[in-house]
Amino acid sequence: MERVYILDASAFFSDLPINLLIGKKITVPWVEEELKDDKRRLKLQITSDLEIRKPNERFIQEVTEISKETGDIKFLSETDICILALALEIKRDNLDPIIITDDNYIQNLSAVLGIEYRKVARKGIEEIFHWDNVCKGCGRTYDITYDEICEVCGSMVRQKVRKGHKGV
Ligand SMILES: [Zn+2]
Repeated sequence: MERVYILDASAFFSDLPINLLIGKKITVPWVEEELKDDKRRLKLQITSDLEIRKPNERFIQEVTEISKETGDIKFLSETDICILALALEIKRDNLDPIIITDDNYIQNLSAVLGIEYRKVARKGIEEIFHWDNVCKGCGRTYDITYDEICEVCGSMVRQKVRKGHKGV
């Protein structure tokens, strides 16, 4: 089954290297409007192979109904509903949707709908990528929790996605 990543606004607020996700990447048009900051908007625009697609009205209605039943409707924006609706539509197309989001209510409803999700926060990202903590000066690698300057050369130590690592 083809893996399809559905990105909500929080995916663009994060350091998630979206371009390295292996598989199809989709978001809904309303996400761009939520990204008021130019830098984040740019991140959306330069994400290669990103498809911007509106979910079918039928799935928006279905998600709305289910979120009324669960009570999540109060906490979900229209954009959130559309992200979930798009994921549901993709699932019904027999593809393998994964929502990338930090929003707890989207995560709740994903679980109800039987749709997989990943958190954008570091722990979620680690499931997708392998991270190295590397000195910008001498290239020495440190434990992922190390957040000081390099012991050897005094340069900044930054987290980097390990080269050549493939997404799941
Ligand atoms: Zn160094």
